[in-house]
Amino acid sequence: MRLDLHLHSTASDGEVRPSEVVRLAAEARLDVVALADHDTVAGVEEARAAGREREVEVIPAIEVSTTRAGRELHVLGYFVDPAAPSIEEHQERAVRLRHQRIVEMIRRLDGQGIAVSFDAVLEEAGPERSALGRPHLARAMVAAGHASNVPEAFNRWIGDEHTAFVPTDLGDPLDGIRTIEDAGGVAVWAHPPRDLIDGLLPELVRGGLRGIEVHRPRTRPDEVRRLDGIARSAGLLVSGGSDWHGPGRGLELGDFWVGADEVSELLEAGGM
Ligand code: AMP
Ligand code: ZN
Ligand code: FE
Ligand code: FE
Repeated sequence: MRLDLHLHSTASDGEVRPSEVVRLAAEARLDVVALADHDTVAGVEEARAAGREREVEVIPAIEVSTTRAGRELHVLGYFVDPAAPSIEEHQERAVRLRHQRIVEMIRRLDGQGIAVSFDAVLEEAGPERSALGRPHLARAMVAAGHASNVPEAFNRWIGDEHTAFVPTDLGDPLDGIRTIEDAGGVAVWAHPPRDLIDGLLPELVRGGLRGIEVHRPRTRPDEVRRLDGIARSAGLLVSGGSDWHGPGRGLELGDFWVGADEVSELLEAGGM
């Protein structure tokens, strides 16, 4: 069995719509995927419907953005009920605040002589958009000729701690974990930063964190072993996924996958 438990769609900052994500997953012979858009489950129903047609199991998921001491930390919520009040409330607020945040980043860019219109950002985000994100702004900057590609826009202006960066500020990681728990989900720390994991993990586990993302593409084997060891000694679940956002970025859907053995306990926790 091949699984990829971290995918994005046009509901947030991915480049293909949810049904197309699933079609590509089926084509790439993935058996189980999790659609984990940033702060929204707007794509989950479409993805699950496509999954039933194509015999791909689609785990309903979300990647909750949280901020602690100015750092962006992401918490994956697997097996969440998309209709749960905690998710609806989080999503409604996140969509609204992410919109305002892009407006603020546009204002900061403008102060540095970089003119981008909000409409151009909406156009890049496309009609299925739910939660806006920095990649939409980056693409609008590229389209307007301010940067030659998305990484350049991040590296010069909108990347973490750069001059036009505004944090998402949607809540503390403990709030994110609670949102997921209240929706019946399993909270897993996505791509835990090396310098924060040891200091923060015990507190997050006390707050209900159930696992950490261990298997990711382009990760050195010793790093995977380190994270796997941390998960084991803390009695945490292990997850793995590509964080795929769209084709043509050097890693196609299906290039990375984990086997059922690696994430079996997580699947069991979700009743699979
Ligand atoms: P946001 O949630 O709006 O802060 O956007 C975060 C997303 O931006 C991440 O999930 C990535 O898709 C993308 N991203 C973050 N940093 C970079 C970077 N340095 N270069 C390209 N994309 C990035
Ligand atoms: Zn993203
Ligand atoms: Fe993330
Ligand atoms: Fe992600």
